Amino acid sequence: MDIYASPFFDQARENFAVIADYLDIPEHKRDRLLMPKRAIMVSCPIHRDDGSEVVFTGFRVQHHLTMGPTKGGTRYAKDLHMGEVAALAIAMSWKCALAGLPYGGAKGGVAVDPYSLSRRELEAVSRRYMTEMIPFVGPKTDVMAPDMGTNEQVMAWYMDTYSMYQGQTVSEIVTGKPVHAGGTVGRREATGHGVVHLTGRAMERLGINPSGATAIVQGFGNVGSVTAAALHRQGTKVIGVSDHTACYFDRRGLDVPALLRHTEEHGVLRGFSSELAYDPAQLLVQSCDILVPAAMERVITGDIAAKLQCRILAEGANGPTTPEADRVLNARKVEIFVIPDILCNAGGVVVSYFEWVQGLQQLFWTEPEVRDRLNRLLERAFQAVMTRSERDGVPHRTSALAIGVEKVQKAKITRGLFP
Ligand code: NAD
Repeated sequence: MDIYASPFFDQARENFAVIADYLDIPEHKRDRLLMPKRAIMVSCPIHRDDGSEVVFTGFRVQHHLTMGPTKGGTRYAKDLHMGEVAALAIAMSWKCALAGLPYGGAKGGVAVDPYSLSRRELEAVSRRYMTEMIPFVGPKTDVMAPDMGTNEQVMAWYMDTYSMYQGQTVSEIVTGKPVHAGGTVGRREATGHGVVHLTGRAMERLGINPSGATAIVQGFGNVGSVTAAALHRQGTKVIGVSDHTACYFDRRGLDVPALLRHTEEHGVLRGFSSELAYDPAQLLVQSCDILVPAAMERVITGDIAAKLQCRILAEGANGPTTPEADRVLNARKVEIFVIPDILCNAGGVVVSYFEWVQGLQQLFWTEPEVRDRLNRLLERAFQAVMTRSERDGVPHRTSALAIGVEKVQKAKITRGLFP
């Protein structure tokens, strides 16, 4: 039985096969690199507000423990399944290695629509999920973080639940906590900041002036909203945005601060404007300088890739581009500058790493220190990806993944095979 069987896991497998061929990794050594170390599935029963009982399924996949603890986000999504979680865990491994972080990748979550829960129910699911995970996680074993459908508050509940069982505060068990509960300054904005920082590097290479450039952002949660805000601040015109409730487009530029105020108040984009409402299926293929998918995986299919009219594709989300779309992009006459997900959204895990380090040392940094270190790490990774891509004439994604896979492979070879 293949517990991972799913199109998203196939995508991780296919991406890995391209890299394994490129790196000449022998067939018999490939599974050790690709297949997850552990996959955990748990039941999370809770009381609903009406007194009834309901059971949600929780997952956690730890990809490899070769370079230190595993690290990765926790996703709440209605149709979450083991294959999706495993694919995301694998991508985290290559991402951490590319950024030079001492982690393997992990991912987890609960198959639940977070928007359908009251705050009390969300807390109950979160505390129960962490309770079930206690035997398998720890600050030196596996460290969780936010992802789609979870946030700082959920991380605070995880930390509190874990700490209650340990009889002491263990803030390093999760990252992405609120600053007043052991978090680090700059974590909430880190992923979006990284997306915009790297987009700036791409614009430099293409000779695009950020002020007056145009951008479209899909997803208006943590990554999408911070990205849109940072683009707007630097003078880039955000002409399209969407979330799961609404989509807006205005070629003259949307009022980003007003959109942020609206989502702050209502939680979602729905209800912002009826005049600017737009067909979400058409959003990604509108002409713009920067396209940022920052919602979910597999939204850029082969079909859409052929129709894209952006100059830069900045992958804020994990796995937004299918392998078929990649082949289309690589064959296009007018090249699109792809900033692959494991580079583009690495800002989140980089600052999560900073938060973990600060928590272990109980020594906290200032915002400029966090920003400066983040920019330096992203810069190093960006340069490495560009250099290898130019040296070997391979796409940016191949270059980025190869750097990650190669580092994990080297560590495994050096440590040997136990017992
Ligand atoms: P989030 O839950 O804060 O936001 C997700 C957003 O996507 C919401 O605005 C939601 O409405 C929107 N969305 C969902 N379905 C949609 C659809 N069909 N069309 C348009 N929008 C839709 O999640 P997030 O943390 O911002 O994560 C977004 C993506 O970025 C995910 O792929 C996640 O894995 C990735 N990511 C997040 C982080 C992080 O630090 N949060 C780090 C790296 C990567």
